[in-house]
Amino acid sequence: MKPRLLLSVIIATMLPSAAAQSRPFPGPDVQQIYQRLLPQIEKIPAFDHHAHPGYADDPDIDAMAAPPNASAPFRTRDDNPELVAAAKSLFGYPYKDFSPEHSKWLLDQKTELKKQLAGPAYFNSILDKLNIESSVANRAMMPDYLDPKRFPWVFFADSFMWPFNNEHETARNSDEGVFIPLQEKMLHRWMQQESVTKLPASFADYLKFITTVLEDNSKRGGIAMKFEVAYFRPTTFSDPTRAQAEDVYAHYVSGGVPSERDYRTFQDYIFRYLVQEGGRLHLPVHIHSAVGIGDYFNLSQSNIMNLESVLRDPRYASTTFVMIHGGYPLDREAIWLAAMKNVYLDSSEMELIQYPAAMKETLKTWLETFPDKITFGTDCFPYNQILGAEESYWLGVHSSRTALAAALAEMVSENEITEAGALDLAHAYLHDTAVKLYEGRVH
Ligand SMILES: [Zn+2]
Repeated sequence: MKPRLLLSVIIATMLPSAAAQSRPFPGPDVQQIYQRLLPQIEKIPAFDHHAHPGYADDPDIDAMAAPPNASAPFRTRDDNPELVAAAKSLFGYPYKDFSPEHSKWLLDQKTELKKQLAGPAYFNSILDKLNIESSVANRAMMPDYLDPKRFPWVFFADSFMWPFNNEHETARNSDEGVFIPLQEKMLHRWMQQESVTKLPASFADYLKFITTVLEDNSKRGGIAMKFEVAYFRPTTFSDPTRAQAEDVYAHYVSGGVPSERDYRTFQDYIFRYLVQEGGRLHLPVHIHSAVGIGDYFNLSQSNIMNLESVLRDPRYASTTFVMIHGGYPLDREAIWLAAMKNVYLDSSEMELIQYPAAMKETLKTWLETFPDKITFGTDCFPYNQILGAEESYWLGVHSSRTALAAALAEMVSENEITEAGALDLAHAYLHDTAVKLYEGRVH
């Protein structure tokens, strides 16, 4: 064999096919590639980077709550027929709808299973059925029915930004009327945790109190802090001095309603303080970065690009950021934020709002841009007393794995990557990339 020929043989085995050029359409082999990839992708134990596991009547599933009568996009409604498939797959549900008498069967079945699988065994069994090795529990507090080894806690950090009289904040609209009192409640719980009965008189002591909560939560198993601040105020953060924030604190610590300008100045400082502490204490910072529930959710004031000045600020280079929900529907822009070494994207919620055909496009763009910076999550959440986090987990996992297999199959068929390379990317997205962020604390 002549050296030149040998070289071409080697290149031919490395490249997706003998043709070295990528092409703009998948070939007729795309379905076969999909059929080969999917079962292998289903065998990869997943790390769910963002979820709200728990029972429907558990108020600690989130630090906020859905406002009553909020519009829900089509696929996220509890009459989505895909949920019948979820109940069938998880519990052997024998019916084709959720009529009241049929729903009772499911409720009874779950009650019986919870009896057989007491304590943490029930939710562990759900993870086992879905091949999820572990799942983040982004919750106000952890319950005793979730196994902390498989459900690492991500706690909420927003409430430190709302310590003053919130009359104006609460009155802005009916959504804030639900959200802000729950932030007050969360702050009060952190104060109780640290045996603090009233706001510290000095700003320095208030900052010390915040740090103590972060440190204690880390000791209690917290692996990251989460912000859902986009629900409560615009996500443009100015860069006030400590003296400016201290002035506002001194002015309102013992009463009085802050002007919007004063409140934002104070909050902007606290947000940046928390981000900095997240770097120092090795607590990655998770930020809700997509559209959200509630009819008053303001997309233009909370769009992910508002955070660019914080994410690309070299002062926060040691803080790991995870952009929860990948900036949806600005997921194409969002992936470019992952150019920063310390910024990662999570795909949760996008796979529940979008059907797999659309989710495939999202994942393909991401996989073709920064495939080593994207992580899988479900954003599972109980729908109601009958359809729980279990069915939501199922829909999230099923949607993500099929969309992933489809995106990768197209990339293989279009000569962008090899099949072996596709499986490497699948492992990274479903498990490895996220797990590495927590320095041995999760698996
Ligand atoms: Zn969530």
